[in-house]
Amino acid sequence: MKMNANYENLQDSYLFARIGQKVREYKAKNPNADVISLGIGDVTLPLAPAVIEAMQRAVAEMAHEKTFRGYGDYQGEIFLREAVQNYYAGKNVQLELDEIFISDGAKSDCGNLLDIFECPCTALIPAPVYPVYVDTNIMAGNRIVYANGSEENHFLPMPDYAVDTNLIYLCSPNNPTGAVYSHAQLEAWVNYALEKDAVILFDGAYEIFVQDELPTSIFQIPRARECAIEICSFSKTAGFTGTRCGYTVIPSALQRGGVSLNKMWLRRQTTKFNGVSYITQRGAEAALSPTGLTQIKENIRYYQQNARLILDAMRARNIPCIGGQNAPYVWLKCPQVASSAETRHTSWAFFDHLLESANIVGTPGEGFGLDGYFRLSAFAKRENVLRAMERFPTA
Ligand code: PLP
Repeated sequence: MKMNANYENLQDSYLFARIGQKVREYKAKNPNADVISLGIGDVTLPLAPAVIEAMQRAVAEMAHEKTFRGYGDYQGEIFLREAVQNYYAGKNVQLELDEIFISDGAKSDCGNLLDIFECPCTALIPAPVYPVYVDTNIMAGNRIVYANGSEENHFLPMPDYAVDTNLIYLCSPNNPTGAVYSHAQLEAWVNYALEKDAVILFDGAYEIFVQDELPTSIFQIPRARECAIEICSFSKTAGFTGTRCGYTVIPSALQRGGVSLNKMWLRRQTTKFNGVSYITQRGAEAALSPTGLTQIKENIRYYQQNARLILDAMRARNIPCIGGQNAPYVWLKCPQVASSAETRHTSWAFFDHLLESANIVGTPGEGFGLDGYFRLSAFAKRENVLRAMERFPTA
């Protein structure tokens, strides 16, 4: 028996595991330290009342023979797919119910979608970005080419026709930079994908944070239905990180080599996935109801105000940064820090410096594929953001 040798090409530990380890070690040595985390992008506000009420009603249904539910629809309950369909109608995107697949979150779908493509293939992945795209492609043995974000392109890399690829990952709003592609930029990606016969995997996990006049779905772009899959989640939208629910949209028009990707994904899901719990799907449906939307947008505003406070604090210290406006993340350039042997501005050196000098935890850019930068998350309690920003060192 041989093991999947591709795993040997992965970095030792997952980014947040390494951060957790460092923080634990620091706390063991400094038990009285008041460490504030603006690190891992996990929500802090509880589920909206409309979601809780719907889930409680669903639990009560499970207690009676007449209303009890067993296995659900493989693709997701119709009521939730209708709610997603309506949500997209609000974005001027018309979806058929069988184009929507309910899942237990965007992370699983990001990885599992590789099942329907012939691997090894080539994946074009922006950098910096959510590390799951890179790791899942390494596991599949795929060749990875990077589209590099930089200050020059405002962390929004654009297609290079000299590069051939089969898959294109796009994350907009981007984790970790908070940068969002414009209509014209996404149109350029769609044209490139069509020209290369490639498939775009568009991750819209943070779409609800977009405040400016920018696209919140790849399907707002003409002809995207012929070349794109959209992955989305209730995690950041409605605080479902622990509750687990997401959805993936695969248009019926998306075909490669005469094969429907929608039909292939359905075949994959019916074989390997048995759906999300009924109770959770009722909660997700409620999140997209008019009352639910009002309530979850209230929570989003709270995080947006946190992001504003972080942005203001960075600017007051002349630390160059972007993001925060259309995403819950602020992306900053690491100020130079004096470490024991040398003056360094690597993101892990800045991580150590911030933890030791101000007891603040952030996320080093290196973990997202770009050293020299740093991510601060706005998913935190207001009082913690305020205290952290008071303590934040000057550049
Ligand atoms: N996509 C992006 C860009 C993310 O940042 C995250 C989580 O941080 C996910 C997907 C995962 O979402 P989920 O909780 O739905 O698995």
